[in-house]
Amino acid sequence: MDAMYYGDVLLVDLSTGKTEQVPFDEADEAGPGLAAGLALYEKYSGDDPLVFGSGLFTGTPVPGACLGFVLGKSPLTGEAAVSPLSMYAGAEMKLSGFSAVVVRGSSAKPVYLWLHDGVADVLDASGLKGMDTWQTTDAIRKEMGESLIQVISIGPAGEATRDLAAYSINYWGSGDSSALGSVMGAKNLKAVALRGLGMLDAEEPGEFYEKALELMSAAPAERGFKAVCSGLGGDDVDAWLEPLVHRYRSCFACPTACSTFVKYNEAPDVMSPDGVEEPGMLVISAAAAFWLWQGGWGAEAAGRAMESMAREGIDLVRGARELSASPLSDPGEIASAVGGLEGTMEAGWPAGEQVSYDAFGPWVPPLAASEKWLAANRAGYVLGVCPALLLAGGVDVDSLLGLCGPAAGVELDASGIESLFT
Ligand code: SF4
Repeated sequence: MDAMYYGDVLLVDLSTGKTEQVPFDEADEAGPGLAAGLALYEKYSGDDPLVFGSGLFTGTPVPGACLGFVLGKSPLTGEAAVSPLSMYAGAEMKLSGFSAVVVRGSSAKPVYLWLHDGVADVLDASGLKGMDTWQTTDAIRKEMGESLIQVISIGPAGEATRDLAAYSINYWGSGDSSALGSVMGAKNLKAVALRGLGMLDAEEPGEFYEKALELMSAAPAERGFKAVCSGLGGDDVDAWLEPLVHRYRSCFACPTACSTFVKYNEAPDVMSPDGVEEPGMLVISAAAAFWLWQGGWGAEAAGRAMESMAREGIDLVRGARELSASPLSDPGEIASAVGGLEGTMEAGWPAGEQVSYDAFGPWVPPLAASEKWLAANRAGYVLGVCPALLLAGGVDVDSLLGLCGPAAGVELDASGIESLFT
């Protein structure tokens, strides 16, 4: 597939530290996005692979086209599991110069992978060992002299290969509820750092970008969790967080800004960047916020708990579910409770449709029952568009499928996407 991806597949052998580039044939043979990712996962299944990739439209102005993925064998189920690269990590993955990355084997010493502009380096991470995700993000950005680098890292929980571990995207945690952070720890892969300044070619660029921008201007621009959790109690969660809200933030190319930055170490209305160094937390996990809200936590305490989990590299959803049973308010007690999390709770939501979260985990709210929910996840990960936005009606799948031809010269319909997974 020449359009919408550029670069080959990067194979990384952590046992030797060597990298190799091979053609991205899987996109033509199996389909784009997660379909190609699953083919790569199968192809290298003997090497316990972690596959990093992006969808067909990721990194373009298509509404919600922020989505990349990490695919690996979950230690929780022994089966292949998919977790999202949201915010700006999916777009940087796409533009890094590699269409997909397959990390095989494990390293004898801690390393991190630095992908930028078609160059891949496996670098010593001994100095990062023991750091939490905030420290790791800062250290890598400082070392590379670039604050826009997206850092997918593990904290102490991942290094200890705990079942509760999750990778974090920069400072804010992630939708990894399948312990892929623990897989990174088992590989001694402390982080994957991404930065790309590439341009993407479209098959019919004029038509593709014109239609993409039309969809973008028609998409509702909303903010807060109600935008993607309407009917689940999103309005109530937004009202609960509201006194602490500093700003709302969207992922790459998303018209909806559902992530919510709450300040509890500084007045929320302070706009100057010269205030306290760590004023609060970007709440990216609607499910974690819902558990703590429903459990009777105060918003400030919930923000501190989510910060503490994100720093440790703990799954926000399972951690919040376990914490929700015993509301706390004292910062020291919250830190201690996070340190004592056992991680035996299943990931899921306290509200919504009955959903079998299957390989995708509960990152996407249960706005529809299993079949429809699963179809939105599959379409989202193939196309690179946030499935929460698809389910919430921010953009419809048929319109997106109509872009596949001008984007990449491929024809896909809903049944075609389903067939990619059989
Ligand atoms: S709906 Fe929310 S999670 Fe999805 S892409 Fe938009 S901002 Fe990100």
